[in-house]
Amino acid sequence: MAGVGIRISSPITERPKVACMPLARSKHWLSPYDQMGPQNSSIKVFLSQSAYCRIVMHAGSEMDDEVGGALIGLWCMDRDTEEQFIVVQHMLPAHHTRQGSVYLTFTQDTLVGFHEELEKNFAGKRIVGWYHTHPKMGIFLSHYDTFLHNNFFPEPWQVALVVEPHKSLGGFFVRDLDGGLSPTRYSGFYEMNGNLGREMVEWNNLQATEDDEMEGG
Ligand SMILES: [Zn+2]
Repeated sequence: MAGVGIRISSPITERPKVACMPLARSKHWLSPYDQMGPQNSSIKVFLSQSAYCRIVMHAGSEMDDEVGGALIGLWCMDRDTEEQFIVVQHMLPAHHTRQGSVYLTFTQDTLVGFHEELEKNFAGKRIVGWYHTHPKMGIFLSHYDTFLHNNFFPEPWQVALVVEPHKSLGGFFVRDLDGGLSPTRYSGFYEMNGNLGREMVEWNNLQATEDDEMEGG
């Protein structure tokens, strides 16, 4: 075919990886909002047990100051249903942050650091979102958190996780289908391999579903 134009080198962010949604082995944890009815959300969040443990350890390492970092993993689309989901496999603690008991902020250098580490240690993975702690506060996004999320994590499938280390609470903020983001309504997630008999999630504000999925072959 004639007329093939110059192709601008495109970032890897264009298409999700086609995969099978790992529902059968995962335990579904619901937030109080999830229990009120489904969110108009486009993205399901799957969290590996190792990433969960690392996030909890980092969150508990500073009980007064906020800490945070990047969520690393995959952006996927189920090959049958074409539903989109992300898989959080790793985390990267943030450096170059301005930390204080009231808020944590990422700087441009933080983002540069994430991308450098991603290229070096997690080739082919993406930054699927970020996490930070709210010691002695609740699970919500402040105005500033929303600003950071929209500026540094603008993709529709990028999520924000907030963790409260004292009461052991956690929740994901996921954009809805229109791109809107509620600062109060948070979601639970799917704990990968949590249905295989050793669940690890201990966040007190989340509740596991009763209707266990059938374990596939
Ligand atoms: Zn915050």
